[in-house]
Amino acid sequence: MSSLTIKDISKRFGGYQALDNVNIEADSGEFLVLLGPSGCGKSTLLNMIAGLETVTEGLIRIDGEVVNDRDPKDRDIAMVFQSYALYPSMTVRENICFGMRVRKVPKAQQVESVGRVAKMLQLESLLDRRPSQLSGGQRQRVAMGRALVRDPKVFLFDEPLSNLDAKLRVEMRTEIKKLHKKLGVTIVYVTHDQIEAMTLATKVVVMRQARIQQVGSPQEIYDRPQNLYVASFIGSPPMNLIPGTLRENGGQVAVETTLESGTKLVIPMGRATPAMAPYFDSKIILGARPEIITEPGIHYDGATPYAFDARVEVVEPTGSDNLAIISLGGIDAIARLRPGAGAPGKSMAFSIDTSKALLFDPQSEQRIA
Ligand code: ATP
Repeated sequence: MSSLTIKDISKRFGGYQALDNVNIEADSGEFLVLLGPSGCGKSTLLNMIAGLETVTEGLIRIDGEVVNDRDPKDRDIAMVFQSYALYPSMTVRENICFGMRVRKVPKAQQVESVGRVAKMLQLESLLDRRPSQLSGGQRQRVAMGRALVRDPKVFLFDEPLSNLDAKLRVEMRTEIKKLHKKLGVTIVYVTHDQIEAMTLATKVVVMRQARIQQVGSPQEIYDRPQNLYVASFIGSPPMNLIPGTLRENGGQVAVETTLESGTKLVIPMGRATPAMAPYFDSKIILGARPEIITEPGIHYDGATPYAFDARVEVVEPTGSDNLAIISLGGIDAIARLRPGAGAPGKSMAFSIDTSKALLFDPQSEQRIA
């Protein structure tokens, strides 16, 4: 088990800045997920930790030791690639043993390690097969087995589930989570799938265009996104970002916005804070996740909801709930209703749990409350 520190890391490919002053701390046993869209620099960062890519600026420390100039093989890390990178002509056993053979690990220890890992990953009955005789999920497990026999300080995963179908992805996700719990190892895991990030991580690093947007626990990132980018990247359906104007009266603030009908809503947001003062009578964005806009009567930790009537434009049943689209502040806002609730074209009562609503600056895109 090992800690990992990424300190002031930048990476340039010629004139192209692939990473810009990235800082991350991962404790021993952390499940760190690097999350972001294609091209944001996640794989580049992972490859730098692995030693497969050079560092332009900054330091990478594993267990306090700088590893910038250390060969990949001397870093005590193991990497599982998206492609699995299995040798097609070798059996599962040979694939798992390969690294140990190269390192001239004694035969008895190889046998013991393969047995241990095969048991852990339920590969025992597959050891004599070749990769072509395995399903996608089984290949994935072999790739993990090959990493696990090394007993490394840090595991690196580069989108390991992206070649699997939806059902298998969910199954393997659970397997990886169980494995992490069982072994307590430090993991760095790259994905562009926010559900994968939220379900696996102890700490999520949200990246965009070479930069970190936010680092935090999945719940922190979900509840308190630092900016509009993180707010809209995490959560499905995404957070409603409703344009309005911030009003202040006697130390209390409210967001004024309008329904499609032209009816004005004045949504109370509690006490004014110093951070809100520059926005009085100015444009603001109200952030409200779909689940905090519901039909009245579903509430909520003693908070006082704000109630209003609105016309439902569309209803999208998901099975577990009904998503109702209403026009708020000129956007299609999504409310999460109980199954069967809401009818398209009909007006109904809604309420917002304003204690969970957020405020963002439309220009800087930063959260202000
Ligand atoms: P994906 O999810 O698509 O793999 P990513 O977030 O992992 O994306 P990277 O592969 O880290 O992104 O790439 C970051 C940026 O750096 C991209 O714009 C990419 O084109 C660029 N890049 C990566 N490797 C090189 C290279 N060897 N030379 C030049 N540019 C590169």
